[in-house]
Amino acid sequence: MKHILMVATGGTIACRQTGRGLAPSLTGEELLEMLPEIGKICKVVVENPLTIDSTDMCAEDRMKIATCIWQNYDRYDGFVVTHGTDTLSYTSALLYHVLRNLNKPVILTGAQKPMGGDPDSDAERNLLDAFRVACSGWTGVAAVLHGRIIRGNHVVKMHSTAVDAFRSVGAPLAGTVDEEGNVRLSIVPLLGGEPYFVDQVDPHIVLMKLVPDLDPSIFDFLARYPKVIIEGFGSGGIPQRLEKVVQKLIMSGTKVYLTSQCIEGETNLHKYEVGRRAEAMGAISLGHRTTVDAVAAIMCGEI
Ligand code: ASP
Repeated sequence: MKHILMVATGGTIACRQTGRGLAPSLTGEELLEMLPEIGKICKVVVENPLTIDSTDMCAEDRMKIATCIWQNYDRYDGFVVTHGTDTLSYTSALLYHVLRNLNKPVILTGAQKPMGGDPDSDAERNLLDAFRVACSGWTGVAAVLHGRIIRGNHVVKMHSTAVDAFRSVGAPLAGTVDEEGNVRLSIVPLLGGEPYFVDQVDPHIVLMKLVPDLDPSIFDFLARYPKVIIEGFGSGGIPQRLEKVVQKLIMSGTKVYLTSQCIEGETNLHKYEVGRRAEAMGAISLGHRTTVDAVAAIMCGEI
């Protein structure tokens, strides 16, 4: 039987009603007690580095999860991280970028409804499926939610309440888990090189969403940040009325990246004049990356 480390961090899956709203309180051990079937799939050891709503999670917390996995990397066959769904994509993307060349699975899961409460809760299925995928031969970081296996850097939460809330954006699904629990992997991740850990990240990034009438003076304020992502329209580009202020920002030493407000597709600065001018002034296209993936890659200094 495979030996899996469960890293419990809170989220709705671990929530209980407090009278002041849902708040995470169940430990990983308590979650496992509610699902004895997991004992038939693998042997599990639990770490509880955090018990928080993922809304409160910062880079420091995400690095705590990554460090917990890395420090135990040689001791286990795989890792299951239970996590709030609201910022699960930020954690999966960061784990993807800091835990490199993995030859073992790191599977994130969570739920829109707490474990053991609502009979329609997605918690049981998601947690069982996460362990199933962790024992399936998959390697690398992936999220497993509502039967979808999504590569760590392509995870996007599309719905705030539905149990079928996540999609793989910019890449096909890595696989599925059907309602009987059968795992079907559609890609086999390529292994290359020794696993390593990027233990330093820089979270000082600002994401600026354009609206058609954005006040240009906001860009003067952004000059204090070393890295700014501008989420523009369609294929990307800088509106002419903002060109001067963005150019000034770049000249001041801030790296400026351009992405799109569209969920699917790509940022392409070659297609339109507004894109070409942005590129000529030194803005960097984020291409096919999701905004969340770009945030993680920039935090790690990859781009
Ligand atoms: N607010 C919760 C969290 O992200 C939502 C969830 O887990 O579904 O921790």
